Amino acid sequence: MSSRRTILESLRSDSSVSILIIGGGINGAGVFRDLVLQGVDVLLVDKSDFSSGTSAATSHMAHGGLRYLENGDFSLVREAIHERNLLIANAPHYVHPLPTTIPIFKWHSGLLNALLKFLGLINKTVERGAILIKIGLSIYDLLVSSNLTVPRHSFMSKSDSLARFPLLNPSMICTATYYDASILAPERVCIELICDALEMGDHARAVNYVSAVGAFDDIVRLRDELTGETYTVKPKLVVNAAGPWIDQVNKSLKRHTSFVGGSKGSHIVIDNQQILNAIGDHEIFFENDDGRIVLICPIANKVLVGTTELVCDDPDQVCCTPEEVDYFIAMIMKMFPQANVSKDQIIFSFSGVRPLMSSQSTDRGSVSRDHRVSLLTPGDGVEYPIYTLVGGKWTTFRSLAEKVTDQTLHALGRTRQYSTSDLAIGGGKNYPKHAEDEQLLLDNITLETGFESSRVKNLFDRYGSRVLQVASFIHGEYAGNDYCLENHSGYSRGEIVFLTRCEYVVHLEDLILRRTLIAMLGEISLGLINELSHVVGDELGWSESTRKDEIDGVKSILIHKHGVKLL
Ligand SMILES: Cc1cc2nc3c(=O)[nH]c(=O)nc-3n(C[C@H](O)[C@H](O)[C@H](O)COP(=O)(O)OP(=O)(O)OC[C@H]3O[C@@H](n4cnc5c(N)ncnc54)[C@H](O)[C@@H]3O)c2cc1C
Repeated sequence: MSSRRTILESLRSDSSVSILIIGGGINGAGVFRDLVLQGVDVLLVDKSDFSSGTSAATSHMAHGGLRYLENGDFSLVREAIHERNLLIANAPHYVHPLPTTIPIFKWHSGLLNALLKFLGLINKTVERGAILIKIGLSIYDLLVSSNLTVPRHSFMSKSDSLARFPLLNPSMICTATYYDASILAPERVCIELICDALEMGDHARAVNYVSAVGAFDDIVRLRDELTGETYTVKPKLVVNAAGPWIDQVNKSLKRHTSFVGGSKGSHIVIDNQQILNAIGDHEIFFENDDGRIVLICPIANKVLVGTTELVCDDPDQVCCTPEEVDYFIAMIMKMFPQANVSKDQIIFSFSGVRPLMSSQSTDRGSVSRDHRVSLLTPGDGVEYPIYTLVGGKWTTFRSLAEKVTDQTLHALGRTRQYSTSDLAIGGGKNYPKHAEDEQLLLDNITLETGFESSRVKNLFDRYGSRVLQVASFIHGEYAGNDYCLENHSGYSRGEIVFLTRCEYVVHLEDLILRRTLIAMLGEISLGLINELSHVVGDELGWSESTRKDEIDGVKSILIHKHGVKLL
């Protein structure tokens, strides 16, 4: 695997590439892996870090989208459920079945509204009652009936529900529970897809912090955001996977489009043991009186609360506002009126912009989450076609990638060699299926490295079967001299160096926000930032002034974009 510098330098001697993918979020990464698997030479660039756009702002769900049934999006729901099941199988280290419980407050509400919505006569959303939810869940189950990766839905009476969730609002009339899946670390899945592709050979090249900034004739101009240097590439075709930035990217490639209408959504992470105990391993999923969806779910040992839907056209400037925080707190209190919840329990917040297909609808929640690939044929002074990925969900990245790959292979006069349906991702490869297999794997690593068994288990929980790679790296580089970080006993110096070197860390924020869950789970401190800046800085050869700039940069992002109170 080549370094960032080597890849950029290679463009000076030979700028030709079959496919240039612009955008290294989950969709760009998915297309990258699929095309590389077919043997195509591909260059992937992202103006920032991989998976730092919308793909870092999700509700951490791999889901079918129960409520899209009302819009008549049956094929999308079927496709998403299928992809959810594949993710549970292919990324078992990060994607797990999630019991999702809906507290219900009315019996009949929403029936007429849902019918009119289904018929396309209105686009308003109102609270849904038990009967409508029963119909929706029965259809949801029917769509999965051929593949029972997760159990079917069930209803619980009010008394049983209160026995199971004692803090739940006692004015509910019953609860319904169905299954979707949670993705513990969506950003890690994305980087693992990219690493998997890079391991397939030199025909795969990926660089973060490189923007597509211009176009002429058969050329795309790229800019290295670290140095300001520019490079030119001559692609046979371009895939624009820039999420909410796709129209901006097309504009920089001299094509004027208005494919997306952004919809901002935020989340908060709270440290509240009482709520965590109250929900257990269930996601609580409900709607506000205006029909807006609210979720309260466990994420490691913290609680994730989301989300909002607000019109937003500048994906570079989003953060969770005080009004959104007030709304989230009110929603928690609505569902758990006796809970002790306050703003100072918020340890992290994040926001992103859904790259929805542009729509005239004033109800952002009802705009379809489906995706499409728009082909811009050569013209306006550029000689290559541009395949633009419009819309879509994180969950359906693989099927969208498959469509784009098939279309672009066809354009290159090639055919698909391999499917990605059963292709495991990163630490999901050779994932032990049974407890005994897992124990055998961990025992072997413990024996080979001399690490404590608890440490090997910790690495397995974090990286799945990549534990082998991580443990051998640490053992090979540090032998018996690895040590735990002073400010975070769960990480060692060797592990941080592994992530920095093998997972393309460029800035300190990449490590704190995306290669690890350190920031999201409230484990960051000024001492840890300082300590990590030395470990990462030594590895990347930072000068003292660069190290200080990195510390200032990450502090500013944590405070202003993620509402972190640094101590
Ligand atoms: C609040 C919220 C909650 C969501 N929850 C879920 C969920 O639970 N489950 C689910 O399935 N989906 C969910 N989604 C939807 C999902 O997150 C998105 O559909 C998906 O992440 C889009 O990925 P992407 O790769 O298309 O875009 P992005 O992740 O935004 O990637 C685009 C990339 O393009 C790069 N880029 C932009 N301009 C340039 C340029 N000029 N040069 C190079 N690179 C460039 C950006 O830096 C960015 O990294 C949610 C979305 C939001 C906002």
